[in-house]
Formats: sequence, structure tokens, C-alpha cells
Amino acid sequence: MNHAAPRTALISGASIAGPALAFWLHRYGFDVTVVERSAAVRGGGYNIDIRGAAVDVVKRMGIYDELKAVRTPPQTITFVDKDGREIASINTVDYVSQVNPEDLEIARGEVTTVLYAHTRDDVEYVFNDSIATLDTHDSGVDVTFTRGAPRTFDIVVGADGIHSNTRRLVFGEESRFSRYLGYTVAIFTVDGFRAEPQRSTMYNVPGLTAAFGRTTPGGPGQAFLAFRQDDPDALRETDFDGQCDLVARAYRNEGWRIPEIVTAMRSTDDLYFDSVGQIRMDEWSKDRVALVGDSCFAPAFLSGQGTSMALIGSYCLATALANNADHTAAFAEYDRACRAFMVKSQDLALSGSLTVLPATEEALLRRNEVLRGLSSRRPGGGDLGAATREASNAITLPEVADAADRASG
Ligand SMILES: Cc1cc2nc3c(=O)[nH]c(=O)nc-3n(C[C@H](O)[C@H](O)[C@H](O)COP(=O)(O)OP(=O)(O)OC[C@H]3O[C@@H](n4cnc5c(N)ncnc54)[C@H](O)[C@@H]3O)c2cc1C
Repeated sequence: MNHAAPRTALISGASIAGPALAFWLHRYGFDVTVVERSAAVRGGGYNIDIRGAAVDVVKRMGIYDELKAVRTPPQTITFVDKDGREIASINTVDYVSQVNPEDLEIARGEVTTVLYAHTRDDVEYVFNDSIATLDTHDSGVDVTFTRGAPRTFDIVVGADGIHSNTRRLVFGEESRFSRYLGYTVAIFTVDGFRAEPQRSTMYNVPGLTAAFGRTTPGGPGQAFLAFRQDDPDALRETDFDGQCDLVARAYRNEGWRIPEIVTAMRSTDDLYFDSVGQIRMDEWSKDRVALVGDSCFAPAFLSGQGTSMALIGSYCLATALANNADHTAAFAEYDRACRAFMVKSQDLALSGSLTVLPATEEALLRRNEVLRGLSSRRPGGGDLGAATREASNAITLPEVADAADRASG
């Protein structure tokens, strides 16, 4: 089936999945509009990773070198105990080369900035707005917005994050799909707080972590706190002061530089604060509406895979839409192409023996042993990256069939 007019797509959310999908859909001839609730693309965030098959995706987009140029420079991460004593120091180059040598560690905001720069001239971005209602019928989706005039699109894609508005409108309340993992995370910039270039420090006790470092050369220091919080309702309706109080309570008995960091949180202006959970859904699409990224397969930061999954999911969805004029067939192909990969990455976050946040005393001791091996480069000193390496490569990227195949398909 050939389309006389380009197909139109509305994407909700302009962080990672949204602009990446917009990039590919524009390449495949769609007229794309992206609606973003914030006034501009949002910077901020700690280091994220672009790993394994996601490296292939950004290479296919032609932005790998650009991202590499703004990646977080190699750092030494010093792991310390409760008294601030060094357990081990590793260089991120050693760790990355254990996982996949071409992986990129990069500040989240940098990725969004690059994706936006590569789509802003070809795609319509509407900021300060949000989808209010969606009404799907045989020939399209009628959309009303909280501010703009109503419009109709061929398809709508929710790329609006773990608390997705699109998912709520089409599939129902978040509680049906969210799996709380028992942690709270707070990430914030700490201006004027001394951060040594290319060095960060991580403090762990079982079920609690604090890290402090710099993600961009010359940039401000950033703190990363994550801690066990058994009651997910403790976060509900909590304002900024309440969030600071919650953190202060969780860290009140901790050593190292924790008291300074917790105090500094009260004067930050870019706090990212959320419960740590996953989204698991049996269906990622309904009629003419699909979901991508954290909105339908959020893995939690513990997996270290969220951004890679968003990039790969967007690539797979766009490829399926390029291969199929019929959206139902396209959404089914998208699901087949990447569901197993997404589940494997989500499962990474469920093992309690993670590098960043070992859950138990035993897991912490085991992790420290592996770190010491890695820092002394002892032969057989442990492979911290094995599970991540396997999960991050567990997909064969789909290809766009050639035009003749598509026309007959
Ligand atoms: C400011 C920020 C900081 C982050 N920091 C980190 C970090 O340090 N470490 C980490 O691992 N992950 C972080 N994340 C999450 C990380 O970006 C995602 O896990 C991953 O990259 C998947 O991206 P996504 O595009 O699917 O979702 P997200 O990155 O969550 O993006 C969702 C986008 O949708 C927008 N949006 C939400 N609701 C609406 C609505 N109703 N209408 C229109 N737009 C809407 C949001 O403003 C956002 O731009 C951060 C996300 C944000 C937004």
C-alpha cells in the first residue's frame, strides 16, 4: 500500500526516546510533531550509559562521534566505606572496556541536547503543552491539548517517561503497570561544592549509596543518592522540603561527607527525585497509539540500561513503521523485535548484587572483593561487566526492508 501524503505522527515527550523516534520517523518520511510538557528540552541528570546495541543505533544515526566528544571524560571512581576509607579505586576506562570498549558514559542532558539539535529543523516541537484527550477512530487519532488547538494524527506515540500521561490516557492508571523496587533516588547539582575533576567518590552501606563527582569538565559537582524506602507512599505528594527531609532522615547516621551533601541538597535548583521502579506491560500499543522508552519498559536506573533501551526501542519502532504501512502490523513487529531484549535488561535491575547499590552486607562484601581485583588488575580479578555486557548486546537490530518489499508487504 502506498501513501500519497506523508503519514503524521505525534510524539509525547522530548527527552531521549521522543527525539530519537522523531529522528527516525522523519527519515522514513513521516511528518512528526513532538509535544513536551516543559518549556524546553530538559538538561540535567547524572551519567547514563549508551551501551552495546545502542552504540550501533547512534552510529546508524551518525551521532556517535558527536556524543563521544561530549562524553564524561574517563574518571577514577573511589569507593569508600562508612568512615571514608578507600576500599578500591577503579578507572572507568577499565570498567567500560570490560563491558564493551565502544560504550559511552555521558551526562543525560548532553544526549538530549544532541538529539534535539539533530531533529529541531525537521520536526515540529511544541513546548509547554501536553496531550489532554485522545480519541482513536478508523482514519486517525483526534487529539486535544491542554493549551494548543485540537489536531488529528495518523499515529500517536507516548515517550513521556515512567509516569507517562499517554499511557494513563490509553491503558489506565500507573499502579497497574508499575513494579516498585523499594528505593528512592535523588540527583542534584551542588554549586560551589568542591568536586575534583575526573574523580568521583561512591559510598555504600547495604541498601544505601551516595556518590559525588562531576559529569562535565569544568561543570558543577553532582550528587547522586539512592536509598531503601519500603513504603512507596512516603513519596506521594511530597514537596521539595519534604523530599529533603526524607533524604535527611535516611542518611542521618551516615559518615563520610554525607552531612555536607544532604545540607547542600536544600539549596539546589535541579533536583531529580523519584521512586525507583519498573514499568512492565504485556501490550505496548493499542489501536493507533504506541508507547516507547520508560513509558512502557522503564528498567530503573539500577539496570544502567534505560537510555540504551529508549534508543533501541525508538529505532525498532521506527523500523517497523517504515516496513509496514499498516500501524497494527508495525506495532506487532516492533514488539517482536525488541521485547525479549527489554525484559532481559529489566531483569538486570532485580539482582541485589549490583555495583552501585548492593542490597545486603554479603553482596557488598562480594562487590568490594571484585572491585579490589579490578583496581589491582589482578588476573582473574573478577568481571564486573559480564551481566551488563550480555544484556546490552542481546538483540539483533532489525533492518528496513527495501522499498520494493515494503510496497508489496
Ligand atoms: C530531567 C531528567 C533527569 C534524569 N536523570 C537521570 C539520571 O541521572 N540517571 C538515569 O539513569 N536516568 C535519568 N533520567 C531518566 C532517563 O532519561 C530515562 O530513564 C531514559 O533515558 C529513558 O528516556 P525516556 O525518553 O523514555 O523518558 P524520560 O527521560 O523520563 O523523558 C520523558 C519526557 O517526557 C516529558 N513529559 C512527561 N510528561 C509529559 C506530558 N504529560 N506531556 C508531554 N511531555 C511530558 C518529560 O518532561 C521528559 O522530557 C532522567 C530523566 C529526566 C527527564
